Amino acid sequence: MSLYRDTGVVLRVHKLGEADRIITLLTRRHGKVRAVAKGVRRTTSRFGARLEPFGHVDVQLYTGRTLDVITQVETVDAFALPIVGDYQRYTAASAIAETADRLTAEEGEPVLKLYLLVVGALRALAEGQRDASLVLDAFLLRSMAFAGWAPAITECARCGRRGPHAAFNIQAGGSLCAQCRVPGSVHPAPEVLVLLDALLHGDWDTAEGSVQGVRRDVSGLVAAHLQWHLERQLRSLPFVERRAREAPIVDTLGSDSVSGETEVTSAAQGTRSRESAHGATGA
Ligand SMILES: [Zn+2]
Repeated sequence: MSLYRDTGVVLRVHKLGEADRIITLLTRRHGKVRAVAKGVRRTTSRFGARLEPFGHVDVQLYTGRTLDVITQVETVDAFALPIVGDYQRYTAASAIAETADRLTAEEGEPVLKLYLLVVGALRALAEGQRDASLVLDAFLLRSMAFAGWAPAITECARCGRRGPHAAFNIQAGGSLCAQCRVPGSVHPAPEVLVLLDALLHGDWDTAEGSVQGVRRDVSGLVAAHLQWHLERQLRSLPFVERRAREAPIVDTLGSDSVSGETEVTSAAQGTRSRESAHGATGA
């Protein structure tokens, strides 16, 4: 049995059996870790409350046969309390946690940059100084940059020509110049590109000076861009095979803990079979 410590953010929790939970953490040094917290659903649990979603905690774990086991928890930042009491902050934090979870397909692989982005975004939501939807969109843009999917904003996605350009196409990677423009592109207002760029680069003075209509358009583009890339990732073979391999192992631990995982697996397999049925070229 080997012990280790790390600092992490709670991304999600699943019930396990009568009294336990599986906690998904995004940690500073070990990347995504799924670990068992024993007895946390009993009201007498010492650390159950510290392992709620969005908690920033220092944990001690020991390496288990299938999942690691959490033996100690200390709160680093109590982000959860101010976040869960406010609907807008809560929905933004939930989207941040889900995106971080989906962007880390491999457990145990260090993803320091993403961890820092999650902690920064949750801290901003907890403090409540910034607009929650701007915090969310900034996080989504930067986490997509981390994944290598940042949209081209100030240059053409195809040829690199400096813009700003009028056309924007998610499948093509973002802004497109007049020569590279493809059918089906949208034409966002110039202010939309300005706000996208400000959020990607952390220019909060510019971001907070934007008007509601522009923020709405930016949120729509960011969500569509993320959705498109996540669906592409879901179709990738290694990811699907890993999920399929993992499901039976988790199954033996407790029935109510696995519904989310099973859903992802079958959805991914569904996508694959649809693809092969249509002989997709795999864009
Ligand atoms: Zn071009």
